[in-house]
Amino acid sequence: MVAPTDHGQPPRRRAVVVGAGICGLAVAGLLDRAGWRVRLLERAEGPRGAGYMIDFFGPGFGTAERIGLLPGLRRRSAPYDAVRYVDSRGRTTATLRMEALLGAAGGRYLGILRPDIEAALREWLPPGVEVVQGARVVGAEPGRLPARAGDAGVPAAAVLTDGTRIEAELLVGADGIHSAVRRAVFGPEDGFLLRLGFHAAGFVFSDPPIAARLGRDVALTDSLRRQVGLYGLPGGRVAAFAVEATGEPAAPRDPRAALRERYRGLGWMVPEVMGHVPDDVYYDVVAQALVPRWHHGRTVLAGDAAHAVSLLAGQGASLALAGAEVLAERLGAHGQDLGAGLAAYERDWRPVVGRHQAAGRRSAAFFVPPGPLSRWARRHAVRALRGGPLSRLVAHAAFATGGWRSGAPRCPPTWPAAGARATDRA
Ligand SMILES: Cc1cc2nc3c(=O)[nH]c(=O)nc-3n(C[C@H](O)[C@H](O)[C@H](O)COP(=O)(O)OP(=O)(O)OC[C@H]3O[C@@H](n4cnc5c(N)ncnc54)[C@H](O)[C@@H]3O)c2cc1C
Repeated sequence: MVAPTDHGQPPRRRAVVVGAGICGLAVAGLLDRAGWRVRLLERAEGPRGAGYMIDFFGPGFGTAERIGLLPGLRRRSAPYDAVRYVDSRGRTTATLRMEALLGAAGGRYLGILRPDIEAALREWLPPGVEVVQGARVVGAEPGRLPARAGDAGVPAAAVLTDGTRIEAELLVGADGIHSAVRRAVFGPEDGFLLRLGFHAAGFVFSDPPIAARLGRDVALTDSLRRQVGLYGLPGGRVAAFAVEATGEPAAPRDPRAALRERYRGLGWMVPEVMGHVPDDVYYDVVAQALVPRWHHGRTVLAGDAAHAVSLLAGQGASLALAGAEVLAERLGAHGQDLGAGLAAYERDWRPVVGRHQAAGRRSAAFFVPPGPLSRWARRHAVRALRGGPLSRLVAHAAFATGGWRSGAPRCPPTWPAAGARATDRA
C-alpha cells in the first residue's frame, strides 16, 4: 500500500491528482510539501494556452499570499484603469474606475489570464511532483479506508485510456466541471450539474488596432441577453469573453460559427472581434456543480469538479485555489487518519462555496440583463460606485462574491487562517 522506503526515510504516502488546472496544480504542490509522493495526471499534451481573463480576489488571494504564489501572479497580471459599458455605436453608457473596485477589495485584486495563473503555479510547483501530460483519465476506483486496526484498506486507482491503473492512498479529482473522476466514482454528470440558462465563450487573439482602441480599459457591451467583454493586453493582444442567455441545453456543434452569427447584432467592434475566434475557443454551457458528497473511500473532489460556481459568481479560480489549501491543511491536521481529514475538508469548505454558489444564481440578471429595466438598474448601480458612502456599500456588495461582473450578493470574501473553521465573516 505505501511506497517503498527511500534510503531509510519514512515511507511516503502516494497521491494521484487528476487535472493540472489551477486546483490540481495547487493540491499537488501542497501535498508534496506535506510529504506525499504526488503524481499529477493531465490529459492535455502540455500547459493549456487557451483562456480568458480572470478577476482574481477573495479567498484564493489569501491562499496565494500564504503559499508564496502571489509574486508570480503579480508579475503576470494585466492591470486596467476602468470598466466601461458601451452601446452598439461604441458610446460609453457607464464607467467604473478601478480605484473604486480596488478600494473595496482592499487592494487585494488582480486581473490575470487563466493560463497565466497556471503558469505561475507551474513555476511554483515543487520539483518532486511528477507531472504526466497526455494522461487522460477515463475511469476511477474509490478505494476503501481501513475499517479497523491492522486493516490496510484498499487503494484508490485512476484508469487511463490505454487501461493503465495507477494506484494511490489518495485520489483527488481536480479535473474540472466535467470531471471523469466524479462520473466514475459518484455518478453521471447530469445528476450534479445545474444549468443556469447561459452559454459562455472565452478566447485571446492578437489585433493591435483593437487593443489600442481599448487602451487600459475593460469594455463591456451594455446589451440585453448577450454580452461581450474585451480586455486590451500587452503586445497588441485582446482577451474576449461572450455570454448569452439561452435555454439551449448543449453547446452548438460549431461554436465559432454560432458566435459569429449570434453576436453580430451587438454592433460596435463585436463583428470584427468574432472574426478572430480561434479553433480552440473555450465554449460551454454555464452551470454549477452541486455534488452532495465530495469524498468516498480514498477519493475526493476539489475545485470545479466538486463545486463549480460558474462565471456568474466570478470566483471559481479563487475558490479552486483556496479549496486546495483547505484540503491539504485538513489532511495534514489529521495525519494518518485520512478519513477524518477528508471529512473535515468537506465539513469546513462546503458552507463557504455554498454561499458563493447561491450568490452566483442570484446575480444572473445583473450580469446579462434580460430586459431594459434590469439594464437600467445595472447602470445605476455602476454609477453609484463613483463616490460617496453608497459607493462603498455597493462596491463591497459587488466584491462580496462576484466582483464587478456579477450582482449584489452579501458576505465579504474572507477565508480563515489554517486550523480555523472555514466561514464567511461579515
Ligand atoms: C468565461 C469564464 C470566465 C471566468 N471568470 C472567472 C473570474 O473572473 N474569476 C474567477 O475566479 N473564476 C472565473 N472563472 C472560473 C474559473 O476559470 C474556474 O472555476 C477555475 O479555472 C476552475 O479550476 P479547476 O482547476 O477546478 O478546473 P479546470 O480549470 O477545469 O481544470 C481541470 C483540468 O483537468 C484536466 N482534465 C479534465 N478532464 C481530465 C481527464 N479525464 N484526465 C486528465 N485530466 C483532465 C483539464 O485539461 C484541466 O487542465 C471563469 C470561468 C469561465 C468559463
